[in-house]
Amino acid sequence: MSRVYNFSAGPAVLPEAVLKEAAEEMLDYKGTGMSVMEMSHRSKAYEEIINEAEADLRELIGIPDHYKVMFLQGGASTQFAMIPMNLMKNKVADYIITGQWAKKAFKEAQLYGKANAIASSEDKVFSYIPDCSDLPVSEDADYVYICENNTIYGTKFKTLPNTKGKTLVADVSSCFLSEPVDITKYGIMYGGVQKNIGPAGVAIAIVREDLITEDVLPGTPTMLRYKIHADNKSLYNTPPCYGIYICGKVFKWIKSMGGLEAMKAHNEKKAAILYDFLDQSKLFKGTVRKEDRSLMNVPFITGNEELDAKFVKEAKAAGFENLKGHRSVGGMRASIYNAMPIEGVEKLVAFMKEFEGKNL
Ligand code: PMP
Repeated sequence: MSRVYNFSAGPAVLPEAVLKEAAEEMLDYKGTGMSVMEMSHRSKAYEEIINEAEADLRELIGIPDHYKVMFLQGGASTQFAMIPMNLMKNKVADYIITGQWAKKAFKEAQLYGKANAIASSEDKVFSYIPDCSDLPVSEDADYVYICENNTIYGTKFKTLPNTKGKTLVADVSSCFLSEPVDITKYGIMYGGVQKNIGPAGVAIAIVREDLITEDVLPGTPTMLRYKIHADNKSLYNTPPCYGIYICGKVFKWIKSMGGLEAMKAHNEKKAAILYDFLDQSKLFKGTVRKEDRSLMNVPFITGNEELDAKFVKEAKAAGFENLKGHRSVGGMRASIYNAMPIEGVEKLVAFMKEFEGKNL
């Protein structure tokens, strides 16, 4: 068996220990004589899996009782609709546009009410986070929306926007559980799990209780109502059982690594290795304003498209996979999520140095 260093933006690298454990339990989960994939979602064994997953997530983040945790389907993109459908009582919401994912969420919200773009960094190809200390937040906004870590562009909000008392909704798909967070600053924190937590398809929404009501937009499908999922503890219908089981294992892995403080230290160390190299390199350079750099997604370029393509190709041959930048921006991007080991980044930088030596 040989595993590569996988720098994919998502689906992405998962902890090897988790994959091994899942493999060991594949045919017979803890003496049940069946795989978790084959198990009733109403069985005692599964009930324990989902309850433990929720309890571990609550412990990791420190989620108080007045927040509900929901394991949902349809990836993060389904939340682009679910959020306005459930929250747009006044049919007004403010969006901060820091990349394609925020833009998609903004466009989706326009289907349901008046969505305002109150800030944007599109003028500089989303290479920075706009100043959000004094934005023209709408008087009657039902919420202010951000994409906290911009997977494609490699930017991250280091301070949350001043929402002037309005509910903050954040897509944390690509920074989920990468560092400690104060959940009480958010009305909704949600994300697809396929970057830091588990297999694609599952989305996790952590929603403040007062936002979970029957008062949703007319026509909101049952499956898109937070209340249905909250009341039924994510078991209204058949949930993505196997995906949630893997998420649960990743939560336990993060706990065993020392929790979110330890994750942050581990992620800062890895990111520093790469950013420090980029800052002194004569060939490669980062594309993001320094103070807004993500710990998770690191885009970089040589300034020459042919050389970029050559780098991606040679890196692949050397066992570094998925370094090609997003199709909308080009260049390279190394996604270094929680499960990427330090040596993966060290070896990548050594390879970049070697490439620089040969191609300057
Ligand atoms: N938000 C962010 C920040 C993302 O990076 C992605 C996927 N790359 C999405 C939303 C969309 O997620 P999904 O494919 O699960 O709908």
